[in-house]
Amino acid sequence: MTVQTVLYFDICALPIFLIILLTVVIRKMTQGITNRLFIMLLVLSAVTTVSDLAMELICRHLPIDGWGVFGASVAMYFYFLTQTLAILVYYFFAFAVTGTWYRVRSLKKQLIVAAPYGIIALLLLSNPFTGAVFTVTAEDGYSRGSMIWIVYAITMLYAIVATAYFFSNKRYMTLEKLVSLVSLSVLIVGSVVFQYFYPQFLVEMAATAFAFILIILFVLRPEERTDASVGSLSVGAYRADLRKILEMKRHVQIAAVSFINARQLYNYLGEENYTAYISSIIRQLDTLFTRERVYFDIYFEAPGNIYVIIEDMNYDVGDCVKRMYADIARRSEKEVTSGERLIPRVCCISVPDDLNDFDELIRLGQEFSAQIPEGSLYNKASDIIASRDYGIMSHMDQILNRAIAEKKFRMYYQPIYSFERGRFVSAEALIRLTDEDYGFISPALFIPAAERKGVILPIGDFVLEDVHRFISENDFSELGLEYIEINLSVAQCLQEELPEKLAVLGDKYGVTPDKVNLEITETTSAEIGTGIMETNLEMLSAMGYTFSLDDFGTGYSNMQRVSRLPLKMIKLDKSLVDDMESEDGLSIMRNTVKMMRDIDKELVAEGVETKEHLDTLEEFGCHFIQGYYFSKPLPEEEFVEFLKKHNKVSA
Ligand code: C2E
Ligand code: MG
Ligand code: MG
Repeated sequence: MTVQTVLYFDICALPIFLIILLTVVIRKMTQGITNRLFIMLLVLSAVTTVSDLAMELICRHLPIDGWGVFGASVAMYFYFLTQTLAILVYYFFAFAVTGTWYRVRSLKKQLIVAAPYGIIALLLLSNPFTGAVFTVTAEDGYSRGSMIWIVYAITMLYAIVATAYFFSNKRYMTLEKLVSLVSLSVLIVGSVVFQYFYPQFLVEMAATAFAFILIILFVLRPEERTDASVGSLSVGAYRADLRKILEMKRHVQIAAVSFINARQLYNYLGEENYTAYISSIIRQLDTLFTRERVYFDIYFEAPGNIYVIIEDMNYDVGDCVKRMYADIARRSEKEVTSGERLIPRVCCISVPDDLNDFDELIRLGQEFSAQIPEGSLYNKASDIIASRDYGIMSHMDQILNRAIAEKKFRMYYQPIYSFERGRFVSAEALIRLTDEDYGFISPALFIPAAERKGVILPIGDFVLEDVHRFISENDFSELGLEYIEINLSVAQCLQEELPEKLAVLGDKYGVTPDKVNLEITETTSAEIGTGIMETNLEMLSAMGYTFSLDDFGTGYSNMQRVSRLPLKMIKLDKSLVDDMESEDGLSIMRNTVKMMRDIDKELVAEGVETKEHLDTLEEFGCHFIQGYYFSKPLPEEEFVEFLKKHNKVSA
């Protein structure tokens, strides 16, 4: 009788496989090709271990009877089949886990990859007649056949090629990932060699189990790639995948979806409801694209961007968006009880035809909604890239830095008319920028960009200073002016030193707080309740500054909110004024004005362009009018001229 084999290694390996399998299921790592291949690996390894144990246990009682020979043979077939199949699966796993599954996605390629395994299958199928791989006899139990080396050679080949593949993709991996992935082939090859010399130690499966532990710890970390809150891939995964796509010069389409009112809806619904809403949209997209039979991945970037990478270049995203939009709009309406909806804008980018630069792709995905015509749902990246705004946006860093360094900003003033006084009592200070290369640049483009890039504060400081200078240099009572409205961005309102700044400027220019009215937007007002903002508003109010809520009607402020905030005025957004063309819009305006008056707010209508709107707004009881009907924003001197001409000041 041969030396007794040591079974403890196998006995330890089995529960490890089962525990990892359980973890995988509990953590819901069952979606996607990588996870599925890993599960296959686990199952195959567990079966291999059981077969190995069964065979060894039977052969401890040599010579064995007929049933024993049969049982040991069956165990051995299972052993060889599952063990070699596992190596093939491991090779496929190498493609999936490195994000290059597309290379073997077609059945033809899979068959080519699996061809060497065919030889193993043939050898095993013919083994009952040839005994080429192994034989099991009653007297000697298991013994190797003359051609078993072919099985080992092919297995080794797969392991070596897979290892080489990991190394060739190592730039996308951290070191611990690479080590964990390679450890599987190294340990298997090592233990097979070891077992060849010390057949009594069955260490192979234990070594495999050990490698699986490394993989589950360092490689398959769903938390790294997925955004658990909404159930899609994360923005980190988007960036990583995008880099890979560009480096490999692959062709894909990206459907970038941007919800233009995401922040407002987030503030309005609260974190939990908002996240549930986004998850439901992502689930719907998932179902819809699955139905479309394209290969896709969905990524989410908070607060309101979704990216879908589509592998099929012939797929018509524009057509799909049109079909889906109706569907999604209808369904999501039901899920948000209040009836408020996220408003999507879609941009389809062909990579690398439209863009092949990583930073530009990221930026376009985040910012395209500021560069498309108002109300346009579906947009082609090529159109956006050809537009003037795109040229500006892609050089925004340079433009802003230059403008700040060379103090290129100018303040314009748009007169605001008071029905009660019958003259222009104030003006909104609006910033202007003319770049030497790009010409006039709208604040609607560069203010949000400056906010994102964190350079809004120096711009805000310039605005505050220049408006104070303007106020100090002009005799307001002579011009019939009462105050100037200054726009504040969120970042400014969150500055602890804002009250101090205004106090210093007031002293420096001899400007009293009653000559300044500060405009905050709905987005800003949503931050109220967050400490500094609240303190600032209270302090500034106590100092004598007044506040307006800008752009009312574009977000989700309700009357209750408005009444709680320390606001003197409400500025009705141009969109509300434009809507007065319709019956509904007219009633909304009438009632908004009435409600606001009831809670003692003064009302400014923005964007008034026609005499009809002017008259209607007067009839409804709106207090102030700002708009092209009276004047566009004017440079300082022209504004002063305008007032001298139109304001007949009596006393
Ligand atoms: P806003 O504060 O709502 O300013 C009103 C915008 O409506 C201005 O656009 C003004 O020119 C425009 N407007 C006024 N009446 C009419 C009209 O009858 N028809 C049309 N079509 N437009 C009209 P502008 O100057 O392009 O500013 C856009 C936005 O940029 C502003 O919206 C404000 O949010 C921001 N902004 C402008 N200047 C500053 C500033 O100094 N600081 C900050 N933080 N933001 C500013
Ligand atoms: Mg404003
Ligand atoms: Mg406004």
